[in-house]
Amino acid sequence: MAQQQLVIYNTLSREKEVFKPLHAPHVGLYVCGPTVYGDPHFGHARPAITFDLLFRYLQHIGYKVRYVRNITDVGHLENDADEGEDKVGKKARLEELEPMEVVQFYTNSYHKAMDKLNVLRPSIEPSASGHVMEQIEMTQEIINKGFAYESNGSVYFDVEKYNQSHDYGILSKRDIDEMLENTRQLDGQDEKRRSIDFALWKKAAPEHIMRWKSPWSNGFPGWHIECSAMSTRYLGDQFDIHGGGLDLLFPHHECEIAQNTVVKGERTVKYWMHNNMITVNGTKMGKSMGNFINLDEFFEGSHRLLDKPYSPMTIRFFILQSHYRSMVDFSTDAMHAAEVALKRLLDASNHITNIPVSDNSSVDVKSLRQKCYDAMNDDLNTPILLSHLFEATRIINSAIAGIEKLSQEDIDELSDLFEIFLHNLLGIIDESTLKDSNYEAFEKAVDMLLEIRQEAKKQKDWATSDKIRNQLTEAGFVIKDTADGFEWSLS
Ligand code: ZN
Repeated sequence: MAQQQLVIYNTLSREKEVFKPLHAPHVGLYVCGPTVYGDPHFGHARPAITFDLLFRYLQHIGYKVRYVRNITDVGHLENDADEGEDKVGKKARLEELEPMEVVQFYTNSYHKAMDKLNVLRPSIEPSASGHVMEQIEMTQEIINKGFAYESNGSVYFDVEKYNQSHDYGILSKRDIDEMLENTRQLDGQDEKRRSIDFALWKKAAPEHIMRWKSPWSNGFPGWHIECSAMSTRYLGDQFDIHGGGLDLLFPHHECEIAQNTVVKGERTVKYWMHNNMITVNGTKMGKSMGNFINLDEFFEGSHRLLDKPYSPMTIRFFILQSHYRSMVDFSTDAMHAAEVALKRLLDASNHITNIPVSDNSSVDVKSLRQKCYDAMNDDLNTPILLSHLFEATRIINSAIAGIEKLSQEDIDELSDLFEIFLHNLLGIIDESTLKDSNYEAFEKAVDMLLEIRQEAKKQKDWATSDKIRNQLTEAGFVIKDTADGFEWSLS
């Protein structure tokens, strides 16, 4: 494969930059993952799909990617001001569950939804609760370096002090002097020196369930420190790309930079990438707006804003139709359009074998591949990439209708284009070929036969046991006896 030169927009410099990894061919990628105290919703789909696309493309063009995406599960508070109730604890109390049951339940729901959206699992998926030690150590280091203070069992990052020697606001481009000016009057009313200071460690209130021992109090880590601690642990002091939604730019990512800069003495991330947000019928998504659509509600069509179910691939395609840095507005009209457009692409992809073969082609197919790469290399420009795949679709349909002529070589090239760009990189699978309810019935029947064989073996009825095994094997099944029963697959 020809070497591709990827250009990405770096939020830090506000410019497009040629991607040059620190230690090619290795690439370190860290993406802020989900909080696991509620059902996965539409808002989770966009960052997951955006960075899945990046993960797939980096690997496709030859990099070895270590993709770390965390799970936020330590029971952070209701708002960024470090006040309110522990979200995991609240759910655990309401549903009479062990907090880690809540965490596991929603982690499983998140994984199931992401699997349906064909989002690849990251290389490492660390949870904040499994890395409290690292967060305590990092907090201690920030205190030792003089950029954090303890107050009433909690530890806060001293933003004003940091900003005297560093640039707090380097990522978000916020005017921190103005923010400091505005927050001055709060002094003395809070355990924080300034409202802009953020928690590295919080002393737990008596009713707070998620808590750990620390040198300062029985409590829990602040939100921002978990990503600093886990990215350093798995990707080292410096790494290539840090991603997340634009809503995390401030304060979360700004705080991460400040923490890492204090501990390491220099900036640790080379490229910052942010996906834009999703609005619903022109309004921001929010619980209070009643437009918070869970992914399962999408798949089932059970939310009042939906007119019918939408398949996971329609949602994936809908998101990829826009460039990741553009806003996406959900509406049922836009979903219908995405469904129709996706069907056109998949139909064309499935009908390539129907193209009559000619000696020569009447249309240029060969330039399409590089055009598709050029689109991906230009900061993952998926709308442009799709426009080339629609051009390929037009050529396929015209060739089937006898309007254009295509050689076997060009027909194969079109087939490759769909395989590489639509299926492997955009991650679109043809759901019509996936397991349906017939397949589930079939699985049950095979399981039942093998259970009968287990019974026969127990009764030492070797004739029946062998008959089932031999005939299934003959029919193309691979059967393996295991410690607790059996496993089967189709060879
Ligand atoms: Zn994060």
